Amino acid sequence: MTTRATDISGKTYGLWSVICRAPNRSRSSAAVWVCRCKCGEEKHQDGHTLRSGKSKGCRSCTRKIRPYEAIYNLLVNGAKLRGLELSITYEDYVKFTENGSCHYCGSSIQWIAHSISRNGQNYNLDRMDSSKGYHTWNCVQCCSRCNQTKSNLLSYDEMVVVGNMRRTS
Ligand SMILES: [Zn+2]
Ligand SMILES: [Zn+2]
Repeated sequence: MTTRATDISGKTYGLWSVICRAPNRSRSSAAVWVCRCKCGEEKHQDGHTLRSGKSKGCRSCTRKIRPYEAIYNLLVNGAKLRGLELSITYEDYVKFTENGSCHYCGSSIQWIAHSISRNGQNYNLDRMDSSKGYHTWNCVQCCSRCNQTKSNLLSYDEMVVVGNMRRTS
């Protein structure tokens, strides 16, 4: 018996956009689809769940947790643990996320609104002066590669030079 599912790729159900059909894991199961929530989170859903409106988006979105709230909280806690000052508010942090390219090398930064696991523990922020805390005037959005390079080893000016080399290479 072959299951012939109507192709629903490209359709939207609530916050979900259907990307494509997911490979069937078990022979008996109905068609499963790879769906992407408005926030970027991807999940497999079966067609029935989508069509019936049982799932309207990823957990975080449907629970109305503000985007980037989880990663922002990690930032706050991380700063506290390391004894760093922090004056960046949630709203300030969201402003950083609106900028998609690394301050140093210009490569694109992927901000994922809800999935902390996929972001790792990376807030994509760099403190220009490592001896100072998380303040809007001391932070720039930064890709993980530049973040690692700069660490506490390079000064802001040195990192700008390295970043510029990366832009042209
Ligand atoms: Zn979502
Ligand atoms: Zn970079």
